[in-house]
Amino acid sequence: MNKVDIGIIGAMKIEVEAIQAVMEDKKERIISGILFISGKLYGKDIVVAECGIGKVFAAICAEAMILTYNPDVIINTGVAGGLSPKLKIGDIAVSTSVVQHDMDTSPLGDPLGLLSGINIVNIPTDDKTRESIVKAVEELGINCVQGVIASGDQFVNSADKKQMIVDTFDGIACEMEGASISHVCYVNKLPCCVVRSISDGADDDSHMDYPEFCKLAAKNSTAVIKAFVQQYK
Ligand code: SAH
Repeated sequence: MNKVDIGIIGAMKIEVEAIQAVMEDKKERIISGILFISGKLYGKDIVVAECGIGKVFAAICAEAMILTYNPDVIINTGVAGGLSPKLKIGDIAVSTSVVQHDMDTSPLGDPLGLLSGINIVNIPTDDKTRESIVKAVEELGINCVQGVIASGDQFVNSADKKQMIVDTFDGIACEMEGASISHVCYVNKLPCCVVRSISDGADDDSHMDYPEFCKLAAKNSTAVIKAFVQQYK
């Protein structure tokens, strides 16, 4: 079986292509319709995949990556809607934990976001990985906020929804894959961290922001991943 140091997952091509472009000794493999590119970056063995949008594709990708490449850690990178006033377009959100804001069995008395079976709401992030990523962001001179990143199968684009995620989960950023990837890593006992650059404000104006700023945000998240891989020991 292959064995890599780091697995990197982005939902969209724009979130992974600049990393794949600088890899060496590349090998491609398609599993469950997802393209995995393995190879070397700064002397480390890595695998990078574009999983597609949403929690199901993200879970398929994370499980396939673990079973096929056996990484020591998985990082989810990409863009996100900002929920914290401290996060502006292009800034970086790093997860301390992640939640699934659309998981709701509350009519049965459960707290919002409870992941029945593992019986937690917040899936913790690996501290060592988070600290290395924060160091990489700071060295790049990009503003960085650490906190809860919230995932769900919806593009958050309203003040009400945004407020719900802040009030209920103390979320700093919202996206559609990170908590799914972290869930898969959690049950496989694998370290995981989510790193997202802000593409929009997750409110009524966000459909205006997103197409314009997605590219800038993806550039920043990619730069962080490269710096993290370079420093990885
Ligand atoms: N049909 C589009 C869908 C993009 S969805 C496409 O295929 O490109 C937006 C993506 O950016 C998701 O991967 C999500 O993780 C992230 N994202 C950025 N801003 C977001 C927001 N405000 N709410 C939810 N996800 C967001």
